[in-house]
Amino acid sequence: MIGIYIHIPYCRTLCPYCDFVKERTSTSVPKAYLKALCAEIERFGGPDEAGSVFFGGGTPSLLPPKDLAEILDALRRRFRFTNPEITIEANPDDVTPALVHDWRNTGINRVSLGVQSFDDAVLRYLGRRHDASAARRACEAVAAVFNTWSLDLIYGAPPNNAWERTLDQCLELDPPHVAAYGLTYEPGTPFARRMDNAVEDDVSLALYQVLERKLAAYDHYEISNFAKTGHASKHNLVYWRNTEYAGFGTAAYSFIDGIRARNVIDTTAYLNAPGTKMEALILSEEEIRLETVIQHMRLREGLPKAAYRDRFGADVNEHFGDALTALLARGLVEESQTHFHPTARGFYLNNEIGLALVG
Ligand code: SF4
Repeated sequence: MIGIYIHIPYCRTLCPYCDFVKERTSTSVPKAYLKALCAEIERFGGPDEAGSVFFGGGTPSLLPPKDLAEILDALRRRFRFTNPEITIEANPDDVTPALVHDWRNTGINRVSLGVQSFDDAVLRYLGRRHDASAARRACEAVAAVFNTWSLDLIYGAPPNNAWERTLDQCLELDPPHVAAYGLTYEPGTPFARRMDNAVEDDVSLALYQVLERKLAAYDHYEISNFAKTGHASKHNLVYWRNTEYAGFGTAAYSFIDGIRARNVIDTTAYLNAPGTKMEALILSEEEIRLETVIQHMRLREGLPKAAYRDRFGADVNEHFGDALTALLARGLVEESQTHFHPTARGFYLNNEIGLALVG
């Protein structure tokens, strides 16, 4: 079963830190984009069975519910779904009780809410459209209807002393899932000019450790993700386990049959020829093995040895024995009878695990 990603590349305002592929719209998602998406889905030539759908962006919550239903109908005509997780990313200021009910009626069963902070100064710094009270109202509206939802946060934006209060307010809302990412100052974004504001590594680590401490009752199942039992993101696990996914829409990535492909990143070009790839890389088995181990090291459970053997026909030690021995010695990875998994330090210094595995 594959995961399905649908990219909606439109936002009402553009946040200055964001390097996703998106453009500004003063209205809604153009009908031409909806048509192009449905055409690309219809023509998809890969696997037929899917276990998850993720509407990401951009701002999928700009889609009117009937357009969302139309995309889901196109997906249901093309794929067989078994108990799918269907997630929509949402901006708090789009959320109303009526919209949340409409989402539920279309078959959406998970909402990922881009709260980012419960501090108005932080939200202003990030250039977000909403304020803290709109974020709280949105969480309450979503929680009233959805059993599974994620409260998504950003740390490392000034004032940093607001982080602990944001986490306290997050906990008061009792979300079943929390995702928290450090703010980055990406080249090509307006924030690239503010690079001097970036927090030092030690400050970032301290903020991350506050996060770990506050969310200690959750399963910290991935470096940046926390879930109550049964609420881990099924769709994102597809990426972390390096299994197959199909992406539809501008700039969407797919990984099918060992080929990683990306749709064109220009929406006008996409509208003219939906599904046209800007690149398609045929990955060697060696590259797929490496990516599979690196991705699993983002997960607390780590890499199941048996799953590796089933997938690649050899013991993981045969391919990565030297690197794993070195990582064990450095205390970044631990070995159990069934798994290799990152330690707490392995979460903090995760890129070092990747570097050691690349060799
Ligand atoms: S952070 Fe989200 S809402 Fe802001 S510009 Fe990026 S995609 Fe759009």
